[in-house]
Amino acid sequence: MIIHLKENITPSEADRLAEKARAIAFRRNGYHVLVTSSKDKSLAPEVEPFTAEYFVLDSDIQLASRQYQEQIREIRINQVTIGGNQQHTLMIAGPCSIESKEQITQSAELLKSLGISTLRAGCFKPRTSPYTFQGLGLEGLKMLAGIREQYGFNIITEVRDATHVEAVIEYADIVQIGAKAMYDQGILRTCGKANKPVLLKRHFGATLQEFVQAAEFILSGGNEQVMLCERGIRTFETKTRFTLDLCGVAYLKEHTNLPVVLDTSHAMGLAYGVPDLTRACIAMGVDGLLIETHPNPKVAKSDADQQLTHEAFRAMYETLQPIAAAVGRKLI
Ligand code: PEP
Ligand code: MN
Repeated sequence: MIIHLKENITPSEADRLAEKARAIAFRRNGYHVLVTSSKDKSLAPEVEPFTAEYFVLDSDIQLASRQYQEQIREIRINQVTIGGNQQHTLMIAGPCSIESKEQITQSAELLKSLGISTLRAGCFKPRTSPYTFQGLGLEGLKMLAGIREQYGFNIITEVRDATHVEAVIEYADIVQIGAKAMYDQGILRTCGKANKPVLLKRHFGATLQEFVQAAEFILSGGNEQVMLCERGIRTFETKTRFTLDLCGVAYLKEHTNLPVVLDTSHAMGLAYGVPDLTRACIAMGVDGLLIETHPNPKVAKSDADQQLTHEAFRAMYETLQPIAAAVGRKLI
């Protein structure tokens, strides 16, 4: 159950009521919100006199549910806005990992020439082997900050574990919680207290219910700027890296109020499939796309097989605008 307390309730009164109702509490402009288990179907008598309105939900997909809030949440990332009544599709592009100043500058030049607003690059990489490139870490974050300064892009970079979550929150314009970190409650809770938009990726073994409930950890912490990212789930198929769950995307669009971003690169895992898959995703009318591109994918230090060359990215990008326009969207 979600409870909106009356406007004049003090923080200490809200804490007292939260304890009575066994609720999580956070403050939203002007009033406090309490969230209890979705099993609660009626208001606690002690809380009732202080309640402005309340919402009974079917499952613990609560703050993210369109039963609670019909309109897709609006998320502002500095100069750009997605969700709300904007029909925008946020383009997020760049290499899997930041590798050098030269490499990221080349990526920045590509984005600038196409008018793309948001540059991605990982600094703390959640690799499957400890013996491979692990990312440039803090040095990479500083380089990305320099690129933002120079070009004015929004920067998105991922958090791998609790050791650097604060640093990523400080440096990034959008904090990416990677697929493997989706279940990390320390990261989710820390991001719930941050005042930065968060892109939460779906773990490749997570059901839609588990995925959206992970987002509830962030939302109920008081950070309501959450985007969901479908990036492929693991199925019996081995010819592609993962299977992009477009049925799941249809579910998320219908039942949640969070903007939905699609990552075609990690789903496919192979560059040849990314342009077609991206076109299919744009046709679904999504709030964002995440695509990896590298100046020389052959020598990329991570995800080499799936990164588009800049030429291939450019060619693909030209075909995306008319499809976006056909579904009433604008690429930003
Ligand atoms: C990435 O974005 O480079 C990445 C590691 O993605 P995922 O967490 O989806 O595997
Ligand atoms: Mn990658």
